[in-house]
Amino acid sequence: MYTSFHDFGISDKVIMSLSEMGFEAPTPIQTAAIPQALKGKDIIGQAQTGTGKTAAFGIPLLEQRPDVSMKSRYPYALVLTPTRELAVQVCEELGKMGARAGVACLPVYGGQSIELQIKNLKRGVDIVVGTPGRLLDHIQRKTLILKEIRTIVLDEADEMLNMGFIEDIKKILGETPEGRQTMLFSATMPSEILGIAKNHMKKPAHVSVDAGQMVVAKIKQVFYEVREEDKIKALTRLIDVEGPALTLVFCHTKKEVDDVSGKLQQMGYPAGALHGDFTQSHRDEMMRKFKNGDLDILVATDVAARGLDVPDVSHVINFSIPQDPEGYIHRIGRTGRAGKPGMAITLVTPRQYRQLRLIEQSAKTRIMKEKLPTGAEVKKAREDDLAAGLEEMIAEGKHAALYHLADRLLEKYSPRDLAAAAMHMMLGEAEVEEIEEVRGGSYEGGKKGFARLFMTVGRKDKIRVEDIVRSIAAEANIPARRIGNIALFDTFSFVEVPSDLADRVIGAVNDSIIKGRKVKIGHARKRKQG
Ligand code: ADP
Ligand code: MG
Repeated sequence: MYTSFHDFGISDKVIMSLSEMGFEAPTPIQTAAIPQALKGKDIIGQAQTGTGKTAAFGIPLLEQRPDVSMKSRYPYALVLTPTRELAVQVCEELGKMGARAGVACLPVYGGQSIELQIKNLKRGVDIVVGTPGRLLDHIQRKTLILKEIRTIVLDEADEMLNMGFIEDIKKILGETPEGRQTMLFSATMPSEILGIAKNHMKKPAHVSVDAGQMVVAKIKQVFYEVREEDKIKALTRLIDVEGPALTLVFCHTKKEVDDVSGKLQQMGYPAGALHGDFTQSHRDEMMRKFKNGDLDILVATDVAARGLDVPDVSHVINFSIPQDPEGYIHRIGRTGRAGKPGMAITLVTPRQYRQLRLIEQSAKTRIMKEKLPTGAEVKKAREDDLAAGLEEMIAEGKHAALYHLADRLLEKYSPRDLAAAAMHMMLGEAEVEEIEEVRGGSYEGGKKGFARLFMTVGRKDKIRVEDIVRSIAAEANIPARRIGNIALFDTFSFVEVPSDLADRVIGAVNDSIIKGRKVKIGHARKRKQG
């Protein structure tokens, strides 16, 4: 029904701005939320990251702007975000969408000069986007007047709860006019959020998109098992071989961010650090450089995991495993933005293996184990990189300034010796440090004498345990009672069968049809003991 932005009946100026931003058609969450929000309804919106939630609330927000003639100097809309970076980003996006309509947005957050903010607020703005603490500060100083507020938006509401903003949020909600519209957007919906909704919203419309599949399909997810002490080596190997465009590396603590970014810099990688202890101007600077591509690698704590939208992040690397499934979803959601492919890599120590499996289950996703690139692969990648660099230099002609030196040396040496020596100098000794392989690989918890098989069907295919038992028994012609435990997940399952029957089962069941679905079956990857 809504296949173009015109179908929403929104103003031409906003449509023009959207098309200038390259938005051609609304995304599913926008299709679901915008018509309801335009009617003035309260909204609870849930959709995976990177699906365009900002415009889902932003477009209705822009449409609610009072007529210019009536325009007062007080803001008519307020957007709350958990982090400073997100406040800046959401404000920028609203500013772009409202550019043609002349809507003035102001970001307001701690760490930035309050005097400057006061000055800008006095000048008169339409929409204020800010973090709860600083907003409350302005409200209490009466430098932010809320009496004209028509709409308030809580973006990344669950994260604001996690960060302990709940009381601030309630206070702010209490300060806004009764008749206002409230919109709440989040990728996950814990029960406290629904509590806010109950107490502060009026018959909200729930809009959600594909809640079952929380992880963007275009993100390839893998993990590597490494010892703690080998993580840095593993990280650099991966960066060398993957040749990422922009990489976000997530660490657990500020100290770890400092360590990892410091070591990368020492080794000559263009890396920057981002965490809450830096001054705001440093944080802004890092984000700017990263967005511009002046910095290829940004090492960060979870402050950077929420909502940030840097379109060219090709790789997210979890240097430390996230604390919980939600953290995982948010971190990896920084790649694969706006339909682009992305890669999410998690480094896992043998002890964290189980944690990874839990994340995998709750996030309803599958994270495949990969083997780290070998030393030889790393060397090859570095050589390819050098070769590409040389070709580029020759194409640009920058090397011509050194022809005289080349000529002089060519009197003595062959071109081959000369080129190889120069390249050797550039690569350095380039020894790739050893990484000890994590041994064992037989974590398989299952019953003795049983093999664990992986099947490509699950609950989502409306398949039950009985269906699997019946099919295996029939196809492989074995008694049902010999089939062991079955673990059903949304899109896949694990089945235990006696080891001596495993190959027979695989041969008979692979490519067979269960409940109308073609099934692939094979040996499950091994897990570590523990
Ligand atoms: P979310 O808040 O759901 O994580 P964002 O609002 O940050 O997602 O949007 C993700 C990216 O998709 C942004 O770069 C945004 O500009 C882009 N985007 C949003 N809506 C559209 C659309 N309708 N068409 C094309 N790109 C869009
Ligand atoms: Mg967002």
